[in-house]
Amino acid sequence: MADPAILVTGGAGYIGSYTLRHLASQGRELVVLDNFVSGHHDAIVDEGVTVVEGDMGDAEVVEAVFSEHEIEAVVHFSAYINVGESVKEPLKYYDNNTARPLTLLAAMQRHGCKVFVLSSTAAVYGEPEAIPLVETHPLQPVNPYGWSKLMLEQILRDCGSGWGLRSACLRYFNASGSSGDGLIGEDHDPETHLIPRILLTLTGEAEKMTVFGTDYDTPDGTCLRDYIHVDDLAKAHAMALDHLMAGGESVACNLGTGVGMSVKEIIKAAEEVTGQKVPVEYGARREGDPARLVADPSLAKDVLGWEAEKKDVREMVESAWAWMNGPRKGHFEK
Ligand code: UDP
Repeated sequence: MADPAILVTGGAGYIGSYTLRHLASQGRELVVLDNFVSGHHDAIVDEGVTVVEGDMGDAEVVEAVFSEHEIEAVVHFSAYINVGESVKEPLKYYDNNTARPLTLLAAMQRHGCKVFVLSSTAAVYGEPEAIPLVETHPLQPVNPYGWSKLMLEQILRDCGSGWGLRSACLRYFNASGSSGDGLIGEDHDPETHLIPRILLTLTGEAEKMTVFGTDYDTPDGTCLRDYIHVDDLAKAHAMALDHLMAGGESVACNLGTGVGMSVKEIIKAAEEVTGQKVPVEYGARREGDPARLVADPSLAKDVLGWEAEKKDVREMVESAWAWMNGPRKGHFEK
């Protein structure tokens, strides 16, 4: 059998592919399991990575991965991420985000693999009672997407009590940016996230973008979010692996910068970075959007030694813009 490896599910997705690249740069042995429903083959840029095309809910495929490789830890990204869709199609979300990972966890239990890093979300908190959000805030999601992730978090805690699984649930705030070389980046279909939506109006792929709500109780009336650079997210996963693989305790922690930026501020940053005027229309609130979502990131620092480094939102926009103007023009081949 080959050297011990880390299994990355969803390693061909946006945050997954950055994390994969970062882990590869550290010389780790890596296996990706991805069904390529939304992931992209070209997003896996390191040649040494073993790629298995298959679904984490397919018991045979998963068993083969664990039999053929000595998997010492799992970093789990595979999930559906569209909040609006989760409201309309809850079963799709509970199936993919909560139920299918059980197959993966069962294989881990059978093979004695006890380290799990989860791509979780700030959506587990629901409507904030206070800002910044601390991990002790009540967990009361307001949509099936948030519930589907929170349930998986709970399953991980129960596996911790039951058979000694140690897990890190990383609750992301707003992932953004690219690493600037234009090789990999954010390419969702449909694209719903703010920064790419803004930039797509400037590449001509979209006519205009809509600001969802201008009557929030915030300084400029638009929602505040905590935007975090994807490179910082990638590093956090590596640090969570190090923490757990060194015998550290399970943890659930926020990954954010602690800084809230409004939709209008992001548009301004995009205009500054690109030197172009963003065609904006002001529309109604989007259902389910809290006015403010800002992290208290101190637990991640205390436990993992992680802190966001690329805190300037202009750097995030600039790197996202570099991806859209790079060799792939913001899109992987279908
Ligand atoms: N937003 C917007 N127009 C868009 C997309 C997003 O005004 O076309 C706003 C959205 O209401 C939220 C913020 O931008 O306040 C970030 O939204 P995004 O979908 O990027 O991430 P979320 O916070 O929903 O995870």
